[in-house]
Amino acid sequence: MIERTIFHRIRDREIPATIVYESETVLAFRDIHPKARTHVLFIAKRDEDFLPSIADIDDATAHVPGMLIHAAQRFAVEQGISGYKLTFHVGKGGGQEVFYLHLHFLSEEQCCAHDGKAAEI
Ligand code: AMP
Repeated sequence: MIERTIFHRIRDREIPATIVYESETVLAFRDIHPKARTHVLFIAKRDEDFLPSIADIDDATAHVPGMLIHAAQRFAVEQGISGYKLTFHVGKGGGQEVFYLHLHFLSEEQCCAHDGKAAEI
């Protein structure tokens, strides 16, 4: 039985978040405590793609980090952001607080027209 995290609740629209990107498989929303002008978190949506952390990857889930990176790259292109950092925190010792695998996207460039909401979603 998977322990539900706060990101499950965002994914399932049980608590609000500023969603800036969504595809069939990936959801991205603004970090509530941004460390850069644009700080967005990318998560996989499907239960079969759920992983607590990079440390938990197995053969069935090895595609998930690449999926998140691909979504981040597409988001950057959509938003016209040319420079950014992508980070995974791994385990408590790596600064991870939420055990639902997520990719941090950080940029000093501005994203998302209309005061924080994505233009087309
Ligand atoms: P990590 O240290 O990699 O586990 O990062 C977790 C991130 O989730 C932190 O940067 C938090 O600011 C962010 N966070 C926690 N709760 C929420 C929330 N309800 N909505 C958006 N971001 C959140």
